[in-house]
Amino acid sequence: MLIIDGKKVSLVMKEELKTSVESYRSITGKVPGLTVIIVGSDPASQVYVRNKAKTCKEIGMNSSVIEMPEDTPEAHLLEVIASLNADPAVHGILVQQPLPKQIDEFAVTMAIDPEKDVDGFHPENLGKLVMGELDKCFVSCTPYGILELIGRYGIETSGKHCVVIGRSNIVGKPMANLMLQKLKESNCTVTVCHSATKDIASHTRQADILIAAIGRAKFVTADMVKPGAVVIDVGINRIEDPTTKSGTRLVGDVDYEAISATASAMTPVPGGVGPMTIAMLLKNTLHSFERANGL
Ligand code: NAP
Repeated sequence: MLIIDGKKVSLVMKEELKTSVESYRSITGKVPGLTVIIVGSDPASQVYVRNKAKTCKEIGMNSSVIEMPEDTPEAHLLEVIASLNADPAVHGILVQQPLPKQIDEFAVTMAIDPEKDVDGFHPENLGKLVMGELDKCFVSCTPYGILELIGRYGIETSGKHCVVIGRSNIVGKPMANLMLQKLKESNCTVTVCHSATKDIASHTRQADILIAAIGRAKFVTADMVKPGAVVIDVGINRIEDPTTKSGTRLVGDVDYEAISATASAMTPVPGGVGPMTIAMLLKNTLHSFERANGL
């Protein structure tokens, strides 16, 4: 079975991005800039934000983090976004989710200039994705990272049946739409399953490519997978494990051990889809810089 190693690919991509940033710096005297806004003190969000800033620095991009208190009014956050929209040194704006309850996530998504929406959440970017205008939009980083893995591993997708479990706006829906596009990494027949799907195994067993984005530990069991299928696991779930030092460990949405005996290729958790998400965020920020500077 082929292990689709997202950690390895993300390291290769970081080197590629670093080379591009360095060459743009020498041509234009400028580098791409990403600003991340975090509202409140959710510990997991703080870890994600710190990782994003650290990775930006590693590849030579500018990065800044704006920290706001938990009780920040929505109007103030929108004002800060407006000033970043107008700042030519900022090429990517990301507002870390989840947001406190007084702030409407949709209003925040709408406030970000689509040209700087490197998360690919703005309806203008999602709409262009649905229309297949991929070179004119930003694609949501996790699905985009999966497409990149499929491409780099040369996995055959054209004409295959792809089943996506999950229909969130940030993973399931953009993923299903990407797999439907006429691209060399997709061009699939696509089925989307969700919590109201009846007899989900009858769908997943037909999948040549199965993508699980559910958020339930080991939801996909071996009897749900066709022998020889390619299985992509987006889930990140922490479960109890008394054999580890911390007493917990991360697992995906699929039962990796059982399914690896029959699948032809799989992404592990951790080290599969996860590391690709930050790499694609930086790639989107680089694209934004290229567009802003006519490169
Ligand atoms: P989400 O917004 O909670 O969406 C989960 C989706 O799974 C929903 O569409 C839901 O259906 C569906 N679902 C839940 N229970 C189900 C069931 N029993 N049967 C069938 N479908 C079910 O989650 P998300 O943001 O898409 O994330 C999904 C997972 O990916 C999470 O574990 C998250 O941590 C992980 N994730 C990883 C990365 C990464 O970088 N690796 C990035 C983003 C997310 P309904 O729509 O019907 O409720």
